[in-house]
This record gives sequence, structure tokens and C-alpha cells, in this order.
Amino acid sequence: MNSTPLNIVILGGGTAGWMTASALTKAFKPEFCKVRLIESDEIGIVGVGEATLPQVRDFNEFLGLDEREFMRETNATFKLAINFRNWAREGDDYFHPFGIHGHAINGVPFAQYWQRARLNGDTSSIEDYCYSIAACRSLKFDFPSSDEKSVKSTYSYAYHFDAVLYAKFLRKWAEAQGLRRTEGKVVDVTLRPEDGFIKSVTLQSGEVIEGDFFVDCSGFRGVLISQALKMGWEDWTPWLPCDRALAVPCDRAGDFTPYTRATAQEAGWTWRIPLQHRTGNGYVFSSRFTTEERAAEVLLAGLDGAAQAEPRLIRFQAGRRQESWHKNCIAIGLASGFLEPLESTSIYLAQIAVHFLMRLFPGKTVDPKLVTEFNRLVDIEYERVRDFLILHYHATERDDSELWRYVRNMDVPESLTYKIEQYRHRGHIQRYKDGLFSPASWIAVYTGQRILPRTYDPQVDNMSLATILENMSEIKDRVTVNVAAMPAHADFVRDHCHVPGMTKAAFGAHASE
Ligand SMILES: Cc1cc2nc3c(=O)[nH]c(=O)nc-3n(C[C@H](O)[C@H](O)[C@H](O)COP(=O)(O)OP(=O)(O)OC[C@H]3O[C@@H](n4cnc5c(N)ncnc54)[C@H](O)[C@@H]3O)c2cc1C
Repeated sequence: MNSTPLNIVILGGGTAGWMTASALTKAFKPEFCKVRLIESDEIGIVGVGEATLPQVRDFNEFLGLDEREFMRETNATFKLAINFRNWAREGDDYFHPFGIHGHAINGVPFAQYWQRARLNGDTSSIEDYCYSIAACRSLKFDFPSSDEKSVKSTYSYAYHFDAVLYAKFLRKWAEAQGLRRTEGKVVDVTLRPEDGFIKSVTLQSGEVIEGDFFVDCSGFRGVLISQALKMGWEDWTPWLPCDRALAVPCDRAGDFTPYTRATAQEAGWTWRIPLQHRTGNGYVFSSRFTTEERAAEVLLAGLDGAAQAEPRLIRFQAGRRQESWHKNCIAIGLASGFLEPLESTSIYLAQIAVHFLMRLFPGKTVDPKLVTEFNRLVDIEYERVRDFLILHYHATERDDSELWRYVRNMDVPESLTYKIEQYRHRGHIQRYKDGLFSPASWIAVYTGQRILPRTYDPQVDNMSLATILENMSEIKDRVTVNVAAMPAHADFVRDHCHVPGMTKAAFGAHASE
């Protein structure tokens, strides 16, 4: 234990900066570590991260945030899944749910039984056996049940929220706990001559802020990790060629969906994210395969309400920092890496990095073993997400535009080829301990992308086909009956956490009177 507190300086007040600041404030006593956050209002934040994963609930719970208050303050809605349209073929429509399809029987995954039925002529979709997908298709929402025997315990949920408001909400919380925030722009970074560690940062005002340890949450700029410490970037553009996004909010119209929509387009894909007060939209595209003008045309033509602003352009490069922890600096958030928001993973990646930082917390001197372990864990997380994203592009039958011809023919990482081959053989999902995603997620995306196993696990032959079909039918019925009794997503949001001032009518045609 240190006799004097460790001085931690966080540079950046976007989602990553405020998540780091609030978690450290919660986890450690001020006598052990003092946290100070610097942010520049002039630079601002990216602020388009609107769709999340269920893990964000763990983060909020760790801080002790009240869910209703958090949802009201961030205009949040519930999210059960992502709906993918036109990915493997134009006209295709599938869900990647935060839930499982059916349930294992005698320890064998449900998908294996479904495979056998399918190979014997059954034409049902695996989605028919997934509770959260059925809820999505009916625009319903309810909290999962804690009764493990209930079909209502087979899913989880996340949120759609306004990322700018989330950062503000966390700021309010952290400042109330005593966190010190400094408004100002860092214009210079001083390194210690003896070891190249960061000694201090200098603000435009001339103020010099020293620290023992620095967290770089300065976004794509990477003011500390890249500009000062010169840590390189691994470019993953050859696998993930999208490098631009246009984002535009529009008036709420159309379905009040408890899911994010990701629609494949000629040179990328568009997102649609329903919040309480507006719908967030964007087009993630590759500048190699289309122009900004054409992308804006496609984006605006697909809105289901009136645009509330001009589309805003954001440039990026898929990839990650070669080392996210270097010397006495850890990069978290966009300064550490970026993978397009197809699976809503960026906020999760910031969250997990904060978690690793807390677990491997440095002292006044930096132990190289902690650095190696942190970087190993972060690398795994990025690679898991990378492979999963590439799968969506590569496993396509589309050849109607240059982008789709490129991605279906490109070489993919060995780690992904191996996973696909294992699955194609007889539906085996490569399991791993660290990182996203669960077997249920892989099954949803393999199936949705039309990758189907050639055969199935022979243990399934222990049950007759007739019994398998009977079980499947029973699961499907249970799903249908239970979903019918769920409230509409619009009703649920209105009753649970609606933003003050939002009228009943604002929840649209799907809210029951
Ligand atoms: C198009 C797009 C869509 C996205 N969608 C999602 C999504 O749906 N789900 C999801 O989980 N994530 C999404 N993300 C990612 C998400 O927006 C970011 O991961 C998240 O907001 C974290 O950003 P950040 O805090 O690292 O950086 P930023 O938001 O860029 O914040 C950087 C901070 O650093 C400060 N700063 C920079 N330079 C200086 C300086 N010199 N001096 C002082 N301060 C400085 C800025 O003022 C700001 O406060 C998306 C990202 C993009 C680009």
C-alpha cells in the first residue's frame, strides 16, 4: 500500500473518460488514489455510441445507479437484439439476440436437434425457438425472469441511449463523489528524461498537471498514447474496409423497436436506433467503394422520420493500438482501438478495459508483468470482436456491388477460418474463456449468414426424430404463449422510465391506450 495516494490523470471526457473516472472513484478510496479528469469542451466528444450490450448493466450496477433515473436522464429504451437485414442476400432478415435458441437437452445444445430436424426436412427457422427474437418481432419488452425453469429466463437486455447524455450523467455522479474535473485543452506533454514516462501535461491556460499515472481517453487523437508516446496502430482495414460514418438523428416514427437495426447497403450498412425523443441513424461505409455524397443520399432516403440535422461525418480506421498500456499510460476507448459499431461493442470494450485496469492496478512504479497481462487481455477482446464482425461481411452471397465482391473474396484471419470450418463440419462452436461472444451469438450469426453445418452431433441420435420434433413444437408454443402476454415495448418504457414531458402519444401507435 502506498503512503501517499497515486495521482491518476484521465485525459478525455467522452464515454470512455467518464466510465473510467466513475469506476475508479467507486473502486478506490481517495487516500489510495486521487483521480482528476481533464476535458476540452471546445474539442467535444464523438457522442454517437447509442447501442450497448447487456454488460453495461453490470457497470451501472457496480456504480449503484438507479435504472429508471439513468434511463430517464439518457432518453434510453430497451434493447433485446440486433436485427440484420440484407446481409447474406438481399431480402434476408435475421436477429442476433441477447438470448438463446431453445434449450439444451441432455447436455446437447438445442441447435444440434434443430440441425437434425432440418436435415430431415423440417423447415422451421431456429429463430422460432428464441424467446427474445419472438419478443422483438412483436415489439414487446419485459424484464427477464429469475426462475431458471421459465422460458422468460432465457434472455438478457441492454439499452439504447444518448451517449452524450450518458457521459453527462456519469459526470454528475462522479463529481458528486468528489471527482475533480478540469476544463481545458492539453497542448503539451512532458516526458521524464530518464525513462520516457509521462511527467505532466500542460493546458492552453499554462497550467501544468502532473500525475503518477495517465489514462488516455482522448478519442481518435490519442494525445498521450499516440502523439506523446508514439505507440503504433494495427490497421485492420484489409478485413474491415469501412472507414467513414455519417450520423443523423431523425424524428421518431415507425416501429418503437426493442432492437437495433443494421441494414446492409451497397458500400456498408446503416443503423437505426430508437431513443425516446428521437431515432439515431447512421451509415457506416467504405470510402473506397462509395462517395460521401452518395452515402448521404442513401442514409437520408432510408430515414423513417424527418432529419433533425445535417448528417455529420466521422472518419476512422478499424484497428487497435499495438499496446494499450505503455509506460505509465493506459489508453481506453477510441484512443485504444476502434471497431465499427455493427455489434455495439465500443462501450463494452471501454468498460472491460476499465475492469482490467482495476484488476491490474498500478502502483507508483509500473510492474511490467501487469502491463503484459493487461495488453494480452485487451488484445484478446479486440480480436474476438474483430473476427465476429468480419464474419458478417465475409459470409455473404451478395455480389451486387464492389464492397460485397471484395469482402466475400478477401482472406480472413486464420482464427476465423478455423471457427467457420469447425462449425461447418457439424455445428461445433469453438468455446473460449475470455472475450465476447457466446455460442448462442455465433449460432445466430452463422445461421443468419447462411452458414449451416453439414451434419450434427451424433449424440442427438439417442432421441427419435418424432420426439425431437415434439420437443421443438412444445418450445415454440411456450415462446408464443409467453410473448403474447408481454407488454408492448412502448408501454413498458412509458410506464417504467419515460422522460418527463414526453406525452403518451409520443410513444406512438404501438403504445396501447
Ligand atoms: C460512427 C460511430 C458509431 C458508434 N456507435 C456506437 C454504438 O452504437 N455503441 C457503442 O458501444 N459504441 C459506439 N461507438 C463508439 C463510441 O462512440 C465510443 O466508443 C465512445 O463514445 C467512447 O469515445 P471516447 O470517450 O473514447 O472518445 P470521445 O468521445 O472522442 O472523447 C474524447 C475526449 O477527449 C477530449 N480531448 C481530446 N483531445 C483533448 C485535448 N488535447 N485536451 C483536452 N481534452 C481532449 C475531448 O474533449 C473528449 O472529451 C461509435 C463510434 C462511432 C465513431
